[in-house]
Amino acid sequence: MRFYKDKEKKKLEKVLCNCCGRELSMTGNFVSEGVLHVCKDWGFFSEKDLVRHEFDMCEQCYDKMVAEFQIPVTEREVLEV
Ligand SMILES: [Zn+2]
Repeated sequence: MRFYKDKEKKKLEKVLCNCCGRELSMTGNFVSEGVLHVCKDWGFFSEKDLVRHEFDMCEQCYDKMVAEFQIPVTEREVLEV
């Protein structure tokens, strides 16, 4: 969950992992550790039509979640993020 210092949501104040509730490390306005940010607009064929779900997850919670997958995540090397 993201909290901002300004109404324009440009200056990040803090980020909490929605799964474990831990406050993630910040350096200035940036998260300085691994984080998964999800923003999903559910569509017509879902049961949440026109609802946006948004959350953040720390890397430890992400690792626990994907460890439960029946099919592992696809992994490949990237040159930059
Ligand atoms: Zn977490």
